[in-house]
Amino acid sequence: MAKIVLVDCNNFFVSCEELFDPSLKGKAVCVLSNNDGCVIARSNPAKDLGITMGMPYFIAKKKFKNVTYISGNISRYSQISKRIMQKLCDFTPEIEVYSIDEAFLDITGCERVHKTSYFEIAKKIRAVIKNEIGVDVSIGLAASKTLAKLASEIAKSGLRKKLDLSGVFEINTQNVNEILQKTPISEIWGIGRNLERTLRRHNIRSGADFQTLPDDFLKRNLGKIGLDLKAELLGISANPVSSEPQVPKSISKTASFREFTSDKSIIKNALNYHAHRVCTKLRYFNLTAKMLTVMLRTKDFRVITNKIMLEEPVDSEFEINQKIYKLFDEIYVPEIIYRSAGVILSKVERRKEAQLCLFEAEKRIKSKNLSKAWDNIERKYGFGSLKMGAIREKEE
Ligand SMILES: [Mg+2]
Repeated sequence: MAKIVLVDCNNFFVSCEELFDPSLKGKAVCVLSNNDGCVIARSNPAKDLGITMGMPYFIAKKKFKNVTYISGNISRYSQISKRIMQKLCDFTPEIEVYSIDEAFLDITGCERVHKTSYFEIAKKIRAVIKNEIGVDVSIGLAASKTLAKLASEIAKSGLRKKLDLSGVFEINTQNVNEILQKTPISEIWGIGRNLERTLRRHNIRSGADFQTLPDDFLKRNLGKIGLDLKAELLGISANPVSSEPQVPKSISKTASFREFTSDKSIIKNALNYHAHRVCTKLRYFNLTAKMLTVMLRTKDFRVITNKIMLEEPVDSEFEINQKIYKLFDEIYVPEIIYRSAGVILSKVERRKEAQLCLFEAEKRIKSKNLSKAWDNIERKYGFGSLKMGAIREKEE
């Protein structure tokens, strides 16, 4: 039987802010999204006040005055995330970074190396992340990823309710049935709203109900996903921990303007900024992209896009800026008022050492070096410490 661990950082963005400013500890703290739009992370005291995830900032600050609101700093959080993931690699090479604050580890067989039980290894992982990085994590231990995810939720809620302060929970053959009986299917990893509705129509309400469904029913109604999920709930790993990161289909960055606008230079500057964010992410994950899309959203929520296929896969904002302006100019209408803009790069693939076309080579190497220098400066001084020169449209 496999032994899989899910490590999930508690209130991750807030924990990162507390590392930089320990005086925040124990206080009601919220981290805000891009442009301070809404709440994206809360400390436990902020949760206790009733601040919800995604609450718009303008509502939160009116309703909850004695709370510290902090503009999110993604590059800060990614750096801490990287350090955590590196630490986790000390326990096993079989690690799948699932999100900025979650990772699955396959620790099957590690009890011999560590000369202790799997549960003790999980406790050790938690202690190492806490003591060496300073971030509190919840850990789920089980025979499949789906059960490990559920176990980590139980560990987290035990900590929150101060019922079990170990921060580690194991789902094993002894307790699995009882837990699945108590777990509504909506709380099982991978079951979205639509699937939940379908299952409810068949009177399937708990994880235990799901686990007992006949294979031919699952095959007919849900296909392979259904069969895999059943196996995972039975403690058979159908979705193994994969250390090869999944390549996303596309990477997009969009944001609302501070105020609605028709101003060409404001929109172009925003697009420039998004191009930089998208490309930083591509480079971070060692990816390139071949399709470029510019997106504008109007005041009345109409979405206008314009895209092109690029001749070469790119990962540098300097290679796409002029193309973005061109795409933008083709769809921009001065009479329209816009609320947001974005840049999307799709047809993403892992970077290959690309064959450079002879004439283009020199220009592209220059772009790449510029991007690399930019990344280094931001790594040192923080994201946004360097910006591309502002564009001014000539008044006519
Ligand atoms: Mg988390």
